[in-house]
Parts: sequence; C-alpha cells; structure tokens
Amino acid sequence: IAVAWILNQMVSRSRVASFMNEKIIKEKNAELEQKNNELNELTMRDSMTNLLNHKNSLRKLKEEIDRAKRIDYPLSVAMIDLDNFKLVNDTYGHQTGDEVLIQVAQILTQNCRATDVVGRYGGEEFIIIMPDTNDRDAALLLQRIKTCIEETSFKDGIHITLSCGISEMHGESIHGILKSSDLMLYEAKKKGKNRIEVKLNTEKKSAAIN
Ligand code: GH3
Ligand code: MG
Ligand code: MG
Repeated sequence: IAVAWILNQMVSRSRVASFMNEKIIKEKNAELEQKNNELNELTMRDSMTNLLNHKNSLRKLKEEIDRAKRIDYPLSVAMIDLDNFKLVNDTYGHQTGDEVLIQVAQILTQNCRATDVVGRYGGEEFIIIMPDTNDRDAALLLQRIKTCIEETSFKDGIHITLSCGISEMHGESIHGILKSSDLMLYEAKKKGKNRIEVKLNTEKKSAAIN
C-alpha cells in the first residue's frame, strides 16, 4: 500500500508539473506572437508618417483586388502627388517639409473610411485604395481631401496643393489599375496641377472634376 501511495504521489506531482509547464509555454507563445505582430506592424509602416509603406501598399492592393473580384464590388485607386513640394523644402527646409508630410498623412487618414487603405507610395506620393467604391464616389472623397489640404495652414503658414489620378478597377491586374491611376495623375500634372483626373472606363476617356 505504501509503495502504491508513493507511486500515486509521484504521478500526481508529475501531472501538476507538466500542467504548469504547458501553462508557461502557452503564456510564452502568446507573448511571442504579440511581439511578432508588433514587429510586423513596424516593418509594414513608413516610420515617418505611420502609413503603410510602398511594399505593403502593393500587397494590400493585391488583397483588395482579389476580394473585390470575389465579392464582386467596385474598387478604386487614387494616386496623389503633392505639387511643387521641392519648393517647400527649398524655402522652409527639409525638417519642415517632413512635418508637412506627417500632417498630410494625418489629413488623408482622417478623411478616409476605416476600410480604405492609405499608403506612402513614395517621397511625397500617396496611394488610397478604396474598396467597395466606384470612381464617382472616389472622386467625391478625393475632392474633399483636396479642399482640406488646400485650406490647411501648415507649419510656418505653408499652403500646398495636390494632384491626383483616380481609376476604378474593371477586371484588370494590379499593374493595370496602378498604370491607369498613374496615367491620370500625369494628366492632372500636365493640365496644370492642383486637380483631380478620373479615368472613365465605360467611355474610355478621362474627366476632370475640378
Ligand atoms: P511636382 O508638382 O511636379 O510634383 O513638383 P515637386 O517639386 O513636388 O516634384 P519633384 O519630384 O521635383 O520633387 C519632389 C520633392 O519631394 C523633392 C523631394 O526632396 C521632396 N521629398 C520627397 N520625400 C521627402 C521627404 O521624406 N521629406 C521631405 N522633406 N521632402 C521630401
Ligand atoms: Mg513626386
Ligand atoms: Mg510632387
């Protein structure tokens, strides 16, 4: 009986120990997962503006294109480039230019819906991916953003404008929709900046909504 009792005690203790070990491992795993998520989040975003960086904007666009095709809803993409930004740097310094870019990023984020994706595509270039949004609604949103940027008095009383190209997806690939938006942005610059150009897919021509 004594031997059986001792063996029983040993088995119970080892069960308690393995239960505790399992608990510790689970806790450590959860901690590790959280750290991993934090790290992913850091590498996904542009450290200055906290927007998605170029690479992850494209990754997100790919995901959103796939989703839009699957669910069969529209998707629009806006390419934004700040006008004459070199002049801001040359006049007020690079540091002030950085602060303007940070504030622009905030304005873009604040004016978009939670489902829209805002990315820093390049130096003073931004991308907005708008799921479940046709070109008309995208243009209305971008018009609102354009006015907001125009009316904002940035640091040192700086005033800036933006040019924008919008394109709605009609079954094209990621390269197709990026190319269309870029082309429209180029049109906006060519026609004198501070304007939005929208690609009208049905009529295969562009329209300005300024
Ligand atoms: P445009 O209207 O044709 O777009 O003229 P632009 O001066 O904006 O265009 P350009 O491509 O000649 O110059 C882009 C400027 O944006 C120059 C560059 O120094 C500035 N820029 C890009 N990235 C940053 C950044 O991270 N910080 C600051 N301060 N400036 C930046
Ligand atoms: Mg540029
Ligand atoms: Mg520019």
